Amino acid sequence: MQQEKVDVLVIGAGPSGSVASAYLHKQGLKVKVVEKSKFPRFVIGESLIPRCMDNFEAVGLLDCLKAMNFEVKGGARFMNNKGVVCNFDFSKKHGNGWDWTWQVPRADFDKALTDELQSWGVDIAFQQEVTAVDFSEDGTSVTTIKDIDGNESTVQAKFIVDSSGFGRVLPRLLDLEKPSEIPKHSSIFTHVEDVKRPEGEEGTIITFDVIDTDTWLWVIPFSNGSTSIGYVGKTEYLESFEGTNTEKLQQMMKLSSYYFDRFDGVDYTFEPRMIKNIAKSVKQLCGKGYVLTGNSAEFLDPVFSSGVTFAVESAHLASQLITKELKGEKVDWQTEYNDYMIEGVNVFSTYVKEWYTGNLQTIFFHSTENPVIKEQICAVLAGYVWDKTNPFVKKHNRLVKTVAHIADMEMEAKKDS
Ligand code: FAD
Repeated sequence: MQQEKVDVLVIGAGPSGSVASAYLHKQGLKVKVVEKSKFPRFVIGESLIPRCMDNFEAVGLLDCLKAMNFEVKGGARFMNNKGVVCNFDFSKKHGNGWDWTWQVPRADFDKALTDELQSWGVDIAFQQEVTAVDFSEDGTSVTTIKDIDGNESTVQAKFIVDSSGFGRVLPRLLDLEKPSEIPKHSSIFTHVEDVKRPEGEEGTIITFDVIDTDTWLWVIPFSNGSTSIGYVGKTEYLESFEGTNTEKLQQMMKLSSYYFDRFDGVDYTFEPRMIKNIAKSVKQLCGKGYVLTGNSAEFLDPVFSSGVTFAVESAHLASQLITKELKGEKVDWQTEYNDYMIEGVNVFSTYVKEWYTGNLQTIFFHSTENPVIKEQICAVLAGYVWDKTNPFVKKHNRLVKTVAHIADMEMEAKKDS
């Protein structure tokens, strides 16, 4: 059996694995990335938020992405079934940070990242699946890998970064799975050739069309002429639609009075896929000799497009700490990694939960907008969830509830007058 020795083994070549391996490679460490599929491959997670740009830039992966000419995303539009629209513009947000990012077909996006890494000499083994990991007491490990012909090999590593996304390799193998606190939602989605796409901004703007408190449709136009459409809703509600996934999605598209005509009769590029009970959580984000990054660690909900940003934020931080540790410096993983990541997850978690209680929707669709509050919420939606100068970060637990309550009272007062 073939045996290899590396400093760091990275499981998965999505954005998280790419950012981790980019950083580690640049630090002179011997890195191997093992990726189960052949790229380009489809994966969902197409609407980015600006904070991810900081991480791609920091590890030298921004230019290869810029060269792809993806659709620029300068904000996001939320609309409700009463025709009320709430536009967020990332250039009008609290604090500093990127004003824009992209809407990306992930097959092309992730391939651009791995092509760039391979051009640097990073070893990425495609179509190789991690099947088992054995840790020694000192944190070193031996990982078993199977290729598509069933041949096995092993990799000995000083450290493992698990960036396997919904593959959740180490959470499964080390029994780290934990039920998420986020309500049980599922999603059904596909791509379409957007042949009825309107001219101008209407054709390119990313939109969240809110059907009711629990159910919403995403419309994410790409620069290649196709558009991603997908519903998120309670698992039992999505399961109540009958037929094939195409039939289910076609029925659901009737729920959107705004988008029905644009996507009516348009062919789906592939049979819509359904992912059930999307939210994932773990008991711990790291342990001796390993760290979980991206979706392998935690996934909340697609409503604020935070997935890729958390994936690259965690990968960037983890790879900095691994470098420190392998160079002989002491790392306090609990405070330097776990606590930092959980702080950001908790802020987003409040916004996701308050979306589904309806409180955030009350604020978004309230008729009198407070521009300062809007800028502060916009910074959260841009992914700047570690900025304590933002009251909507610092007091996220209380402020969303309080502001929603005030908006409710104002609406009641209007009704009575
Ligand atoms: P991935 O991109 O999933 O990459 C993991 C890689 O690991 C894969 O290529 C896989 O093949 C590989 N792998 C798995 N198992 C193994 C194994 N055993 N051995 C080797 N390799 C393995 N995020 C956003 O930012 N914006 C959005 O709009 C958005 N929408 C979403 C909508 C839905 C319905 C869902 C479910 C998620 C959405 N997300 C979104 C989240 C997004 O998909 C993820 O957060 C993001 O892809 C995480 O990146 P990653 O690098 O951690 O994992």
